[in-house]
Parts: sequence; structure tokens; C-alpha cells
Amino acid sequence: MDLSLIDTQHIEAQWLIKHEIELDVLRLDKIHPVVSGNKIFKLTPYIQEACAQHIRTIATFGGAWSNHVLATAFATREAGLNSVGIIRGEKPTRLSYTLKMAKEYGMELVFVTRGQYKGKDEIIATFPNENWYWIDEGGYGIKGAKGAAEILKTINISQYTHIIAAVGTGTMLAGLILESGSNQTIIGISSMKGNKAIEQKIKDLTEKQRPESLYQINHEYHFGGFGKHPEALITFINQVYHQHYLPLDIIYTGKTFFAIKDLVEKSNFKPGSRLLMIHSGGLQGNSSLPAKVLAF
Ligand SMILES: *Cc1c(COP(=O)(O)O)cnc(C)c1O
Repeated sequence: MDLSLIDTQHIEAQWLIKHEIELDVLRLDKIHPVVSGNKIFKLTPYIQEACAQHIRTIATFGGAWSNHVLATAFATREAGLNSVGIIRGEKPTRLSYTLKMAKEYGMELVFVTRGQYKGKDEIIATFPNENWYWIDEGGYGIKGAKGAAEILKTINISQYTHIIAAVGTGTMLAGLILESGSNQTIIGISSMKGNKAIEQKIKDLTEKQRPESLYQINHEYHFGGFGKHPEALITFINQVYHQHYLPLDIIYTGKTFFAIKDLVEKSNFKPGSRLLMIHSGGLQGNSSLPAKVLAF
């Protein structure tokens, strides 16, 4: 894991010039080829706490293509700890690329039915004799937000008027809110359909420290829902790659970049605005697509 590999990519395009907008992309995806950029930031405080409590095993939850599960497997191994992944759904005959990699990083996989998966407390109660450190699905929590706040310390953010990032659990966005300046607007693009509970979940992580902060969640760019990737999104991701050599993922960052372009074209930003998009990684999840669907 090498944070010095992070850089910003300046995007040059007619749609930006026409509206007098500058756009940089913070390339957290460059940290590691398979482990998602933002997840490592979110996990760090949890792993530090587990170590401080002398707990040897970290357990968490996720689906078959979860960036969080894979990042947990990787980060715990880096810290010299063991990991257990509680995976949603029956054990498949062939593991997904994500789970195969997680297993390679030493994670023990425990499959539970979709019904069982809904009851996290009951699952935890089935391991009464284990002294495990449990991390919420997606790394949601105050510590996760604190870890994500570190993302904005990797560069000088003072020049940007807007910081834009994808939203799943909202933990990363909460971290960005905590670390941003009072003159910066944070915009979250929700990758889920109608996830109206997200506003409160973000508030729960930020309100004590930054009640006055400026942020917005946009719910218009889910492309049909979480995990949905219609042809229009795939075509867009390929176009962006051809024009800018910027690889995007189908779950989060593809939708976010699309949203930025659409919002710029709809004159959502004042001329002179300087935008920073967080490329949060997630490229390993593109392996769920058949070969050659994407141009990279
Ligand atoms: C998990 C993830 C997100 C969402 O982060 P949250 O903190 O859950 O909102 C965004 N982008 C990528 C690539 C991710 O893996």
C-alpha cells in the first residue's frame, strides 16, 4: 500500500471549457491494483483499535463483489491479523473474483443466506466464544469517517470550491465533510435508488463536529439501482477511458463522473468553479462483467 502513488488528474474537455469549470480527479484507485482506495482509509482506525485491544481477528460483512470485504482481507493481513468475512448468500460453486482474492489474502469466508444476513446481531451471537473485532458492513461508523477524512490530507484542497464523491454507506462522504473547509461544498452521488435514509446516517457521523457544513446528496444518478449497470453507463465508462485514460468502476465512480458531466452541462456550477472528484477505486468489481465489455 503506497499512498505516494495518489495523484490528481486534470480533465480537459469541451464540456468543462464551455462552462468555465475546472475538474481534477483524485486518483485513490492508484494505491493498489485490486484493493479499493477509500476502503483502506476507512479501515485504518478500526484496525488500529483492534490492535490496541490485542484482538487478533477482524470480522465483517459483505456481498460477493464487496470492495469492503476484499479491502478488509488485505488490510488485516498487512497488519498481521486474521480476518473473517460473513458473505451474503449461499456458497456458490465458483467463487467471485473478489472472494477468491479475499481468500488469497487469508480471509475465512462464512456464507449465510440472504434472510440470515439481515440479522447482523444474530449472526454475531452465533460466534459467542470468539473474541473478534466486528466492523460494520461497508466500514460504516465514526471511526470509518475519521479514517476517510485523511483522504483530503493527501493533497492541498484549498483551491477547490466543490468536492464530489460516490455514496454507499455515506462513511466516506462524512469523512470528507469533516475535513473540508467551510467555503467548500461537498456533493455525494448516491449509487443506490431512493436511499433516503442516507442523509440521517451521514448526519449521525458528522453533526457533533460539523453541524454547519455545506453538503448535498444527489439521488438522480443511480442508473436503476445499486449494482445496476445499463448499456448507457458501460458506453459512458468506455468513452471516458478513451478520452481521458481514466478507468472508472460500474458501481460507484462511473455514476459519479457521469453525474459531474451532467451537472456541469445543466449549469449546476457557477463559472469559475473548481471541482475535485474523489476516484474512490473499486475497479476490481468490474471483473463481474464478461470479458471485453469494458475497454480496459
Ligand atoms: C465503498 C465505496 C464507495 C462508497 O463509500 P461509502 O463510505 O460506503 O459511502 C465509493 N466508491 C467505491 C469505489 C467504493 O468501494
